[in-house]
Amino acid sequence: MEEKQKTAGALRREALCYAPKNGFDRLSAEDEAAMQRYCEDYKRFLNACKTERECAAEAVRMAEAKGFRPFVRGMELKPGDKVYRSNRGKSLLLAVVGSRPLSEGVNIGAAHIDSPRLDLKPNPLYEDCEMAYFKTHYYGGLRKYQWVSIPLELRGVIARKDGSVISVSLGGQPGEPRFVINDLLPHLGVEQSKKPLSEAIPAETLNILVGGRPFQDDDGADRVKLTVLDLLHQKYGITEADFISAELEAVPAFEAVDIGFDRSFIGGYGHDDRVCAYAEFAAILELETPARTAVCILADKEEIGSEGVSGMQSAAFDTFMSDLCDSQKVPLKACYEKSFCLSADVTAAYDPNYADVYEKRNSARVNYGMGLCKYTGARGKSGSSDASAEVVAYVRRVLDEAGVFWQMAELGKVDAGGGGTVACYMANRDIDTLDAGVPVLAMHSPFETVSKLDCYMTYKGMKAVYEAE
Ligand code: MN
Ligand code: MN
Repeated sequence: MEEKQKTAGALRREALCYAPKNGFDRLSAEDEAAMQRYCEDYKRFLNACKTERECAAEAVRMAEAKGFRPFVRGMELKPGDKVYRSNRGKSLLLAVVGSRPLSEGVNIGAAHIDSPRLDLKPNPLYEDCEMAYFKTHYYGGLRKYQWVSIPLELRGVIARKDGSVISVSLGGQPGEPRFVINDLLPHLGVEQSKKPLSEAIPAETLNILVGGRPFQDDDGADRVKLTVLDLLHQKYGITEADFISAELEAVPAFEAVDIGFDRSFIGGYGHDDRVCAYAEFAAILELETPARTAVCILADKEEIGSEGVSGMQSAAFDTFMSDLCDSQKVPLKACYEKSFCLSADVTAAYDPNYADVYEKRNSARVNYGMGLCKYTGARGKSGSSDASAEVVAYVRRVLDEAGVFWQMAELGKVDAGGGGTVACYMANRDIDTLDAGVPVLAMHSPFETVSKLDCYMTYKGMKAVYEAE
């Protein structure tokens, strides 16, 4: 068929208008196959890693298999060398040394591996009405009503006074018991149902059911609690006081699975921000000798403000970078001012079910690729680093040249709320930083949804950023 002559208007429209397209209308067969493989690997990672410690440990295992070795201060480094440093087992820093000197800056990917969850309180175990419970203190910005009546599993560590650390993972394997926070039955929920969502489930009712069988051959009090303590002692060798020095996290006992008839989505716990962490981590594992040194950060504590020794505000990152710079006798400041960081964190995907909180022209759409955010923040960009126009232009070029599908996005309506990432802490170090990541539906819920295409494009984007000269 003869091609119809385009009107002058159509030609001008093509040349002048910004009109992003659905990624599936542009995806090559090669990218489609790579996307499917990538997403299977990502689901495996997500199922294995439900805490920051598990993510860090699994990343060390995978990195060592790819030739990364622990970075020791004073170690000599040459281009192509692959090193990592674990920060107390809760955060991980990796680098692949580039052919150009560190004085010319590094390319950084910064994502976080902590996710919203229910931490156990230091004195968690109690009995009430012959049922045993754990008290919890929620971690991160979660909507409490979403955490009742779902199966939970327990992961984390118990550190004993003698220095030994016991690893706990219970409920994740088939046949293992799980836990639950019981919700109120609707029959008696008349008053509760009238309350705002944020008040209907007070934090002090987020108590996890952990047992119901009284200890036999005992006439004391709290026999159900005693049974639980007895079982914990048999399994882990701990006493009640050991909870004081434990980090036990109740996390959803959901597997990462395909969602939809067309399997175009992945549902799972902890996409925020393991979906970006896995993308930048998988990308750095693929590097040989980049031009600029590539640095991958898997940070902890982002969900509570990036505080603490394992958070992005910690000097641990500066120490790692300064140790790297020392190996080339480059001042850290000289390296930072020439560096670039992609703060790889999720953004909100436009959800037509909640259209009134989004601003449609500036929202990330599922299947439109990696979502770039010039700024995050709340109430007039507060708490955001607001990347410069030049930095955004640089990233546009890098991603376009690598064939990465991306889109520009804000979280939602200006007055609807807001959020932050590690970007400001990177920018405060004098490192040019831009936010970018996978758009997520139902972010911070126990079961979040992402699009496979966006996951893969974020991986591809991270690789392009690492490889940029
Ligand atoms: Mn995040
Ligand atoms: Mn978050």
